Amino acid sequence: MHKVVVVGSLNIDLITITNHAPAAGETVNAEEFFIIPGGKGANQAVGMARLGLDVTLIGRVGKDYFGNFLIQELEKENINTSFISQYEDELTSIAMIILEDSGENRIVVAQGSNYRITPADIDQAAAEFEKADLVVCHFGRMHPVFPYVLRLAKGKNKKVLVNPAPAFQLCDELFKLIGYLIVNQGEAEIISGLQITDLTSAFQVANQLNKNGTDEVIITLGSTGAIFSQSNQQFHLPAFPITVVDTTAAGDAFIAGFVYGTLKDWTPKERIRFANACGALASTKIGAISSLPRQVEVEQFLLKRKEVGEGTSYS
Ligand code: ADP
Repeated sequence: MHKVVVVGSLNIDLITITNHAPAAGETVNAEEFFIIPGGKGANQAVGMARLGLDVTLIGRVGKDYFGNFLIQELEKENINTSFISQYEDELTSIAMIILEDSGENRIVVAQGSNYRITPADIDQAAAEFEKADLVVCHFGRMHPVFPYVLRLAKGKNKKVLVNPAPAFQLCDELFKLIGYLIVNQGEAEIISGLQITDLTSAFQVANQLNKNGTDEVIITLGSTGAIFSQSNQQFHLPAFPITVVDTTAAGDAFIAGFVYGTLKDWTPKERIRFANACGALASTKIGAISSLPRQVEVEQFLLKRKEVGEGTSYS
């Protein structure tokens, strides 16, 4: 079984569903309320574990009710949680989400332990890096742990897949340490400083990111699918037509699918097609972790959609 080390955030999502979000000073009743594990690190780790990969998640939570709950839930998904640090005097990060029936959402994130992660938390898992077939690091903003993970992986000759979310501008030294860069449209625009208005401009942005030193650049474009860009090939694959319910975690499902295909040594087109299927399936269900597909679901979905997703090359 292929082994992946994921370094990233863990949250508890507190979700209320209501027919309208309260205005200032107003109180409304929620129709439903959920407490669900989330955070991009946790979502991506679960996505990969459900596809059958052996996943170790490195992150940080508080020694509190939510921290314990997160670890328990991740263990149920067969994720190695031994390197999720827990600290007494910290609170686990939470996202308070008000989801309107219309699909509009409002989110307040309270960054507790996530951004307190330090190189020491990474060092205790150094042996896991040694065993990994791939390292995935999603940290947003310029967090000190981000370059630390890239350099540690480089020192151990491991490729790193990076998903900088929320996005930030990367320096040339870091670009060169990234094996695979996966970003959505908004993130690609922030990192490149260029705008994406159509597929041509998306390829130009990807080119720019390749030139900065990253070997494989993938830009996800929601219902337009995704583009793949490497020095010797560029192509676009359209998204699978589906009835959208909630696109939360579509990007995380896509990354899990891409990692799965990469570790199977598939061609870029096979990898993006599989990743597009994971993103599409995640968009057909509500929630983040609750919507991430299992391997058998993705395979069945793809069998029924043989004709879709051949894509077009760009030159
Ligand atoms: P993020 O969730 O990070 O913003 P995107 O919205 O670009 O990322 O979605 C990631 C991937 O999920 C897309 O590249 C596509 O494969 C799939 N996806 C997202 N939205 C849809 C949709 N409406 N229909 C079909 N597939 C979708």
